Amino acid sequence: MKMEGFRIFQILALLSLSAIFPVIHGWGTDGHLTVCRIAQSRLSEAAAEAVKNLLPESAENDLGSVCSWADKVKFRYHWSSPLHYIDTPDDLCTYQYNRDCKDENGEKGRCVAGAINNYTTQLLTYNSASTQAEYNLTEALLFLSHYMGDIHQPLHVGFTSDRGGNTINVHWYTRKQVLHHVWDANIIETAEERLYDSNVDGLIDAIQQNITTEWVNLVKRWETCSANKTTCPDIYASEGIKAACDWAYKGASEGSTLEDDYFDSRLPIVNLRLAQGSLNLCTICTIVKHKKLFLRKTDRLIFPRPRSPKTSKLMLSFLSCITYGSFRISHLCNHLCFYL
Ligand SMILES: [Zn+2]
Repeated sequence: MKMEGFRIFQILALLSLSAIFPVIHGWGTDGHLTVCRIAQSRLSEAAAEAVKNLLPESAENDLGSVCSWADKVKFRYHWSSPLHYIDTPDDLCTYQYNRDCKDENGEKGRCVAGAINNYTTQLLTYNSASTQAEYNLTEALLFLSHYMGDIHQPLHVGFTSDRGGNTINVHWYTRKQVLHHVWDANIIETAEERLYDSNVDGLIDAIQQNITTEWVNLVKRWETCSANKTTCPDIYASEGIKAACDWAYKGASEGSTLEDDYFDSRLPIVNLRLAQGSLNLCTICTIVKHKKLFLRKTDRLIFPRPRSPKTSKLMLSFLSCITYGSFRISHLCNHLCFYL
């Protein structure tokens, strides 16, 4: 009886904690895993070696296994919580860095686009003796890999008042859910169940095949970002809020039941965003390659880095990690090899 009372207390404590700290993840486990697995599979030999060097031993050279690390350290690294998303003004369906990339206290640059700029900048020091010691590049790689996935989840660049769909209650078929979670995980899970024997590898293979066949021409267009000399996270974020308005929010108001119509029409968008998540890193990578990182001064903020690499690796070995990823990541990693 005593034990039962304690259990109830534990459950209540957990429930109240989740009310205080609403859960805002990026893609679910399989979404992030997909992005990182695809990205890592496209690395050149030298870049693959660089990533291997930066990954913690516990990851056993599997970037996918640590792509959700950034979600798991949110409560330890409180400062990192706002770096997973961007809140844009309700119903405008546009994103502007200067207007929108800030945390709840209005501190500029503290959003997922600012975080991508930040950790890209840190990784640029990979082979720089003078600054190498300044940053924990293992953490920089893990943060960047994760945020590159997050920024491609359309509802991570959503409206402010509904917190990217976190306060919109819907039914996913018969299950109660919030809209944000439908896009984080439910669409992907349903696709896996119906099309890939509940196996994420099938989803990864299908996306990889599309990249080399059906989307070949699109892929070329995605990669042109590098020629524009702009900070690419702003482009990904703009694409994100547009997809959120055109596909995620549409037909999914409070109390909606989302079924086959919604699933069939939105799954291609999810697949495309997962693929773009990987490919778009190439933009940053190309810039990195030519040592031209066109960042505004305000982008060069460096987020806190409270622990040493050694401690970090130790901590990582205790985490059961999962993943996400994309081409964009693989491209960045490929270009990092220039700094080896
Ligand atoms: Zn996240």
